[in-house]
Amino acid sequence: MSVPPPELPARSSTRLDSYVDRYAARTKGMTASEIRALFSVASRPEVVSLAGGMPNISGLPLDVVGGAISDLVADHGATAMQYGSGQGDPVLREQICDVMRLEGIEAHPDDVVVTVGSQQAVDLVTRIFCDPGDVVICEAPSYVGALGVFRAYECDVVHVEMDADGMVPEALRQAIAHVQAAGRTIKFVYTIPNFHNPAGVTLSAERRTEILQICREADVLVLEDNPYGLLGFEGEPIRAMRADEAEGVIYLGSFSKTFAPGFRVGWALAPHAVREKLVLAQESATLCPPSFSQMAVSAYLRTHDWQGQVKQFREMYRDRRDAMIEALDDLMPATARWNVPAGGFYVWLTLPDGLDAKAMLPRAVTARVAYVPGTAFFADGFGAQSMRLSYCYPTPERIREGVRRLVGVIEDELELRQTFGTVADVVARGYEGPQSDLT
Ligand code: PMP
Repeated sequence: MSVPPPELPARSSTRLDSYVDRYAARTKGMTASEIRALFSVASRPEVVSLAGGMPNISGLPLDVVGGAISDLVADHGATAMQYGSGQGDPVLREQICDVMRLEGIEAHPDDVVVTVGSQQAVDLVTRIFCDPGDVVICEAPSYVGALGVFRAYECDVVHVEMDADGMVPEALRQAIAHVQAAGRTIKFVYTIPNFHNPAGVTLSAERRTEILQICREADVLVLEDNPYGLLGFEGEPIRAMRADEAEGVIYLGSFSKTFAPGFRVGWALAPHAVREKLVLAQESATLCPPSFSQMAVSAYLRTHDWQGQVKQFREMYRDRRDAMIEALDDLMPATARWNVPAGGFYVWLTLPDGLDAKAMLPRAVTARVAYVPGTAFFADGFGAQSMRLSYCYPTPERIREGVRRLVGVIEDELELRQTFGTVADVVARGYEGPQSDLT
């Protein structure tokens, strides 16, 4: 007598559906960022994109870079194309220490871990510190790529207010006390002290000291993310937080904005014990960061006046910052507010009351200008009245044109609002039009 086969659970409609159902819980937080979703429209030539944060590398001397790479292949090709150490190339790590010295950091190459861009450094630090439900404190707003990492590791992000001088120390103190009183673990405070992405502001010197002290007293680690530090428009590079606190700070740096992002070379400088764990995490993620990229960056730093190149980048970005600020001053309604960044790529603009940057975006794109709505930079849905405008990529003329188009959209929105009120007003009033409109 044959035994009937056991009853199987109902199958999903396709085999792929059933795999998709098995994704790990942490992938729930992995959704396309608003910036990613924008890329397809914002990159059309007729759209002035004030959205993307791509470094503008059109000034790079490609012949010099090409020459350095060709020499690298001829002289050290077999090493450059081989696996390397999990911690990164020792010569490059020494050069990284020279770069960080410009910001007052005295470090040993042994405490540096080379990563695949500083993005991977954010990932590795989060991977070794954070369990699901751990708290990470971030500025409000914060870098969208870091928020994506924190979401992917199922951290809870607590935002701390910023003003024109960066993170507000008293707000940080209160946030830490609040979280600790609830018995929760804060794994680190993630901060972008220089030329913040997206807020454009810089943490003042007094506040750096104060924030380090607050974190020391509360026994909380600081993750200092500093990809824009050498792109200031005024004076000397600003002293890093890590320069004044070696034990309690993990510092992240990158060659993406000072050289080129395509090499994907960044780094973490960490206290010794943490550095060891980071290397293990790096080995499990990539075995080793790409040897070829590291040696190419190293050759560029050795053979080229890279600091002269960074100076050129700074001047180019300053011209573009000036073009954007002038256009905003000339054209933007007085009830909008924005800051004047002293370096980096970004202006944070807050719309007149009642306007919503996310809701307005489709109309802006129709008017052929793109920006990133502020909500992308918050873990908790805030930021709807604000937007990030980047001036790094378009020419000054295109920036002016982009601002002109954006102002046109904002003025239309203000007029609509005057006529009809906000959507909430309309809902509250009830629908007053003919019934046929509802079909
Ligand atoms: N941190 C911040 C604040 C950034 O703006 C970026 C790039 N937009 C990164 C980290 C990552 O840079 P990369 O991986 O290219 O070094």
